[in-house]
Amino acid sequence: MDEAENRAWDWVPAAWQPVVLGGLCLVALGFFAAAAWPKLRTLAGARPEQRCDRPLARLKDTIRIAFLQTRLFREPRAGLMHALIFWGFLILLLRAAQFFAIGFFPAVGLPAALDGLYGAYGLAKDGVVALVALAVGYALYRRLKLRPARLTLSGEGLLILVLILLILISDVLFEAAHAARHPAAATWLNPLGWSLAGPLSALPPGALVHLHNGAYWAHVSAILFFITLLPRGKHFHILTSIPNVYFSRPGPGGTVRRLDFEDETQETFGVTHIGEFTWKNLLDLHTCTECGRCDAVCPALASGKPLSPKQLTVDLRNHLKSETPWILAPEKQRAETAPELLGGVIGDETLWSCTTCGACETECPVMIEYVGKIIGLRRGLVLTHDRYPEEFAQAFRSLETQGNPWGFPRDTRADWAANLNIPLWDKDRPTEYLYFVGCNGAFDSRGRKIAEAVAASLKAAGVEFSILGTDEGCTGDPARRAGNEYLFEQLASQNAQTFQEKGVRKVITHCPHCLNSLKNEYPEFGASLEVIHHSELLARLMKEGRLPGAEAAGGRVVFHDSCYLGRHNDVYDPPREVARAAGGTPALEVEHSRDRGSCCGAGGARFLLEEKVGERMSHRRLDELLDARPDTIATSCPFCVLMLEDALKAKNLSGKVQVRDIAELGRK
Ligand code: SF4
Ligand code: SF4
Repeated sequence: MDEAENRAWDWVPAAWQPVVLGGLCLVALGFFAAAAWPKLRTLAGARPEQRCDRPLARLKDTIRIAFLQTRLFREPRAGLMHALIFWGFLILLLRAAQFFAIGFFPAVGLPAALDGLYGAYGLAKDGVVALVALAVGYALYRRLKLRPARLTLSGEGLLILVLILLILISDVLFEAAHAARHPAAATWLNPLGWSLAGPLSALPPGALVHLHNGAYWAHVSAILFFITLLPRGKHFHILTSIPNVYFSRPGPGGTVRRLDFEDETQETFGVTHIGEFTWKNLLDLHTCTECGRCDAVCPALASGKPLSPKQLTVDLRNHLKSETPWILAPEKQRAETAPELLGGVIGDETLWSCTTCGACETECPVMIEYVGKIIGLRRGLVLTHDRYPEEFAQAFRSLETQGNPWGFPRDTRADWAANLNIPLWDKDRPTEYLYFVGCNGAFDSRGRKIAEAVAASLKAAGVEFSILGTDEGCTGDPARRAGNEYLFEQLASQNAQTFQEKGVRKVITHCPHCLNSLKNEYPEFGASLEVIHHSELLARLMKEGRLPGAEAAGGRVVFHDSCYLGRHNDVYDPPREVARAAGGTPALEVEHSRDRGSCCGAGGARFLLEEKVGERMSHRRLDELLDARPDTIATSCPFCVLMLEDALKAKNLSGKVQVRDIAELGRK
């Protein structure tokens, strides 16, 4: 960068260049601050949430997800397009800084010692400009021609793409005009400008001067205009997505946190007003890019329920914007009542439609979280407004009085094991493991068969285990997912106290919902347990040669992932290893499997609800699995077994295809 380049424009006298550019910057920053400041204030004043633990894990996730853009590559073409623009953007930040340095310090050139570095950067920069231009071209083609259904095709998106193109083109024209005006300074290290300089040198000198000047001011003006747009729409994510990824949950667990019922300053429980979300919830709203990847995988939306995760975020974000003056106003000056969030902005049925399967969260490229927000809103409905589906009323009563959601007598909880010779937990002579059977295994006739198969496998492998019998109670998972945190608190506290009193340390469970609660949610209640899913234990026992081989299951076996074992607890391989051992060959996989597996529809306490709207999620999932033409559907969750068996019955396929827990594979 030489002085001639710095003083290349003649539209503004050199002495005025910093003043004019400074004025433009102040205007742009003023517009930026006017829109960004209220957002920052609402974030700063929002409810607290601890998101600073495990900094190394967070940093690793940020590098992988934000900088390497790994989640975007789940869709290779769109991923490459976005990644090129993002990576190019990072490299071109330096070039933008150079443009502003030229304007502010026209008489200052780079030290000669940096010439080599500058040349190398120029070469790399031109490569980046070409790649980003290609990516922007594809983005325009995708928006204008391909028009994927999941995308929100807004004018804002087009404007941003056009601005990026303007920034790229003005950069190249600035270089080219400079090279044409000062041939001695032209270098092949700026190949784009260098190759255009020849044709441009045919222009009259006056036109070249205007081109050079125009390219400069177009470049800096486009950047400044871009900055003013950022906080005004979804492109705010350019600033918020890296922090949003950093502050996202590192790994499984922590999706839902305990409420403080002792806090007397709280007039409401759960989220009833947008201002009651935590700062991370609000940061999520500012970060959504409206890409629609969450919608594309949501089983509720696909089956015709009134829930679109993307729309939920957009509605909450718009509501936050309109409510910001109310939130920021001093308490005395606030209008008496704030507009209804629950039942107004967000319909009750939208919230009850969610299975908390977490597919949306796994797909979101900027780590926006849904399950915690939806449960927060359900808590608002249940705890503050006392409003929930009628099926839940009975389930809540049963959980409270009988410790299970179906109302079976509490004292029949151990009946399933009456003739199985399974010892009850004795705190004076504890076994290595406690087998936490769960309500499904204890009471449901189909679930009992799974519990029997698990117990038989454990016995066959010589595992020392016992059960709590009638001292076991529901973990509270359905109550918590249904928004009844008060009831969950009671159930979890009771179980945690039992574990403590009886000295329980190691727990086996075959229900992924029990696993999730006991492992990830009970530590907040003082129960720090080593919890293992039966699939993990059986896989380990097989490797150790302790589990006698089952008879080959025979036929074609397809595997269905449980959301709460897979996405919520990152357990994918062990159930497959068990299924493989039983089947002799690896189980078949369908397109939607592992962390892209589709929900059976039972999660989020939805197994308690009649599915009255749209298609049944279990039917859709069954259709996906039937594509593999299986004889057996293998899974590792008793609720998935129930849902898929019901779907088979409804389709008159009960005798043709069977659903088996992995513990039952190869057994009569
Ligand atoms: S958690 Fe599952 S059901 Fe709920 S919004 Fe996300 S994808 Fe849809
Ligand atoms: S929540 Fe995530 S996946 Fe869904 S539209 Fe927003 S950015 Fe895309």
